[in-house]
Amino acid sequence: MILNGKQISDSIKAELAKKIADFPQKYGRAPKLTVILVGKDPASTRYVRNKEITCERVGIESHTIRLPATASEEEVLKELEILNKDSSVDGILVQLPLPKHISERNIIDALDPKKDVDGITSLNISRLWTLKRGQADFCIPCTPAGCMRLLEEAGINPDGKNAVVLGRSNIVGLPVAKLLLNAGATVTICHSRTRNIGEITRQADILVAAIGQPKFVKGDMLKEGVAIIDVGINQDPVTKELCGDVDFESALPKASAITPVPGGVGPMTICMLMENTIECFLRKF
Ligand code: NDP
Repeated sequence: MILNGKQISDSIKAELAKKIADFPQKYGRAPKLTVILVGKDPASTRYVRNKEITCERVGIESHTIRLPATASEEEVLKELEILNKDSSVDGILVQLPLPKHISERNIIDALDPKKDVDGITSLNISRLWTLKRGQADFCIPCTPAGCMRLLEEAGINPDGKNAVVLGRSNIVGLPVAKLLLNAGATVTICHSRTRNIGEITRQADILVAAIGQPKFVKGDMLKEGVAIIDVGINQDPVTKELCGDVDFESALPKASAITPVPGGVGPMTICMLMENTIECFLRKF
């Protein structure tokens, strides 16, 4: 089964649009997401544009604050202070990465945790780590939430399964590992210092790859019937095409379910951002 993130996210977006259509009438306004983009990194500019388009489609008001790459940490902090205080702003997203002279942690932790739509402030990260099963009253990071939603949509229950997560970043690897743990999986996290990764991945019933290494996971590293969520977004060094961390061709015959790149986790991430913005809005009422 190929997990078509594009199709699944399209239907979630349609449901969200329906859900919030009467919000202006009911609550006096639509939910609002503000993005801060520092610099003109082409990938970041593209992501932000996609977010704007998706907001419009769902019916969320969107606003982007574009600052030059030379903007100082103080300037970004000042913008955040204004947005934190602005009651018409429900969600704030700081597009990462930030230019090297700005401390990402300082910026992220200046964000009002109630408006932290990607769940990356230190407070919300710690809330995730202490969260037991059940509903969170803060935002779950969008990409990990999208990975879990894809598994759910495919009817794959992690309970009692062996899950292997490749990557230990704060935005993908670690939170997705915690969500899998909460869902009852036995989780192993691998990283750049892990030896004999293939031996570990061959135990996986569920494999989440988030290492940023093109086609790193080959079919011979997989167990028959594994469900694969490929988070990686890379450029194939040979064909120059977009590809994931998993070698799709050799993995496909082994997998019971697999996400393609592009068209897998990527569209789900934006979709979860929309859901989180709506949740931040609703928590105010
Ligand atoms: P980071 O660079 O922050 O983290 C990469 C992780 O992979 C690190 O933990 C690193 O280990 C590990 N790693 C790197 N090389 C290897 C290797 N050869 N073997 C084992 N582990 C390795 O990346 P992100 O978590 O931010 O992103 C990961 C990928 O996911 C990227 O391709 C990114 O573009 C993509 N992405 C996609 C999104 C989407 O919406 N689809 C959203 C966010 C990211 P160590 O800690 O030891 O250095």
